[in-house]
Amino acid sequence: MLVCSRKCGGTLFRAVFAEVDVDSAGEYQDHRVTQPGYICLNCGAPALDLAQVPGELEAEEQAEEAAASVTADILCPVCETMVQLDANMECPNCGSPLEVPRLP
Ligand SMILES: [Zn+2]
Ligand SMILES: [Zn+2]
Repeated sequence: MLVCSRKCGGTLFRAVFAEVDVDSAGEYQDHRVTQPGYICLNCGAPALDLAQVPGELEAEEQAEEAAASVTADILCPVCETMVQLDANMECPNCGSPLEVPRLP
């Protein structure tokens, strides 16, 4: 659903990035929107696609979760090897239990 970003109440919008197919007489046949991007025909302000917004937020959240689960590189105090801490919280090299360095 499209809404005017100025909330002017306009209900007609124009797709900015669209391709229009025409026949040999130049008559409109079909169209496709190549990129999301709309303007309000009432006041000319950019329009927002409400259906797009939650999807983008979700994608951002998933990216943040992926970044948070990245394992930390720490120095094992027992074998003094730089190891990637895995979910088991132990050194993959010597098997010693490791502590996650706490961020302030
Ligand atoms: Zn408007
Ligand atoms: Zn170790």
